[in-house]
Amino acid sequence: MTTPSTRSVSSNGRTYQWPARPLVVVCVDGCEPDYLTQAITAGCAPYLASLLERGTCLTADSVVPSFTNPNNLSIVTGAPPSVHGICGNYFWDPDANAEVMMNDAKYLRAGTLLAAFADAGARVAVVTAKDKLRSLLGHKLLGICFSAERAAEVTLVDNGIADALALTGMKVPSVYSAALSEFVFAAGVALLERERPDIMYLSTTDYVQHKAAPGTPAANEFTAMIDRYLGRLDALGATVVVTADHGMNAKTDAFGRPNIIFLQDRLDEWYGKATTRVILPITDPYVVHHGALGSYATVYLGQGPTRDHAIRHIAALPGVESVLTREQACARFELPADRVGDLVVVTERLTAIGSSRDRHDLSQLDAPLRSHGGVSEQRVPLIANRRAGNLPTRRWRNFDAFDLGLNHLQ
Ligand SMILES: [Zn+2]
Repeated sequence: MTTPSTRSVSSNGRTYQWPARPLVVVCVDGCEPDYLTQAITAGCAPYLASLLERGTCLTADSVVPSFTNPNNLSIVTGAPPSVHGICGNYFWDPDANAEVMMNDAKYLRAGTLLAAFADAGARVAVVTAKDKLRSLLGHKLLGICFSAERAAEVTLVDNGIADALALTGMKVPSVYSAALSEFVFAAGVALLERERPDIMYLSTTDYVQHKAAPGTPAANEFTAMIDRYLGRLDALGATVVVTADHGMNAKTDAFGRPNIIFLQDRLDEWYGKATTRVILPITDPYVVHHGALGSYATVYLGQGPTRDHAIRHIAALPGVESVLTREQACARFELPADRVGDLVVVTERLTAIGSSRDRHDLSQLDAPLRSHGGVSEQRVPLIANRRAGNLPTRRWRNFDAFDLGLNHLQ
């Protein structure tokens, strides 16, 4: 919907001013705020350091579960999962009576503000690292939308661009590489130069953050790469807003060994096999770097235990932070009740949740386990390259990124 008199666009109950100059919103996957702090302190991020004087830096809350898809969809809809419906990568679909991926746009219950701007005549471009997000981010979008992972396979009809690979001069990187994220930035800079979109959304992958803690050489090198590209986007005249889908923490003991609650095994011991069902919404086709282990699970109790009994037992497990009923979890985290189990279990900062031990291939982990999903990974940066006017006092969310960029910056 457009309101020509004020030149604004409405989407999911929020109103956005038309951009005065190109707006680039960047979602740095897994960007725990300390990655930036450490890189700035080490002198690896001079551009970000310069924003202390002339930019805006807020700390925002992501969506819980602090996973990639729910948060990316929240950022591009400006709304929580209770509105857009995407509350994980993976869920129990009662209609299909099966555990299924939630990648398909048929699960999306709200339009994106990107599509709303495009419908109003804006030039919109989206580049994502992994292809799993592309169809959700690009849902009904009249514009450019492609993934680095499949940049060699784009078509004008499907992606709004015929030569995505030629934009960067890079080869298609491995899906498990820092280069996959660099490709996103390189393509973004080239698109800004060539296509001059009014609105652009760039979304990277957290391959590096799953392996490297803040301040380590690999993490600082990655942040330095981001810093260079952010500087180039700025130099091309864009408003740049940087946020993250979630933070990232070690899920290990002091020796670096993983702290994992294999929750399905515990429930099977207590209540019998095939009685309850643990769903890990972090599950996705790309599990090498985290083994499908995060800090959030949802549990279907079936005909087994009472909720009170299960809550008491699960809450007593070391490393569990909270056990919520469906109603409590949906109220607190703004989730769609029909896609959440009877219980939601969140573990604390150093502990991950698994299903059954035999469903996780830990041999693939070549570094101490780092992951996300809990409340402990909810804090993320929300940074802009311009000063804000009088910012409202509120709980800033990462899905306020477009609101900040379009409605509050000078
Ligand atoms: Zn992520």
